[in-house]
Amino acid sequence: MEITAVQGDITEQQVDAVVNAANRAMRGGGGVDGAIHRAGGPAVLEDCRRRFPHGLATGDAGWTTAGEMPARWVIHVVGPNRNAGETDRSLLTSCYARALEVADELGARTVAFPLVSAGVYGWPKDDAIACALEVFRAAETQVEEARLVAFDAATYERIAAQL
Ligand code: ADP
Repeated sequence: MEITAVQGDITEQQVDAVVNAANRAMRGGGGVDGAIHRAGGPAVLEDCRRRFPHGLATGDAGWTTAGEMPARWVIHVVGPNRNAGETDRSLLTSCYARALEVADELGARTVAFPLVSAGVYGWPKDDAIACALEVFRAAETQVEEARLVAFDAATYERIAAQL
């Protein structure tokens, strides 16, 4: 699997699937979650309600339509909320591993990831990057490209330093 990094908006990525840093309720939120629901339109939330009536557990992943985005699917993951005391690093690596498993179930070959938990959920950015790259480097998957999407230039530089 090729690991790439870009600076930009994940909702605009021309990939098979975009990963969302969702919350356990899976009913939308702020940050990248809000951006994905806005760009995808109401079909994303409808699919979340229909397919995940009880939401998702921290560390787990599940897919919905991507609605009006260029991607075909959203793979929702629930990162650990460090600000709420969820400090177990394996919950964060699990998000990336489970997202790749779901991508394989879907047959997605190109997948764009945000830095899960590195925003409101308070995971230190450099370790959030390290978690993603550790899982990507060890992954056995049919996914051909894992693309880490940095929203700002400073974050992009920090990813590039670890690539
Ligand atoms: P969490 O609650 O998991 O911490 P956030 O959405 O608060 O999720 O932040 C996760 C990361 O996504 C942060 O690094 C934030 O800058 C980034 N981000 C926010 N909006 C977008 C977007 N449209 N595209 C890509 N990354 C984004």
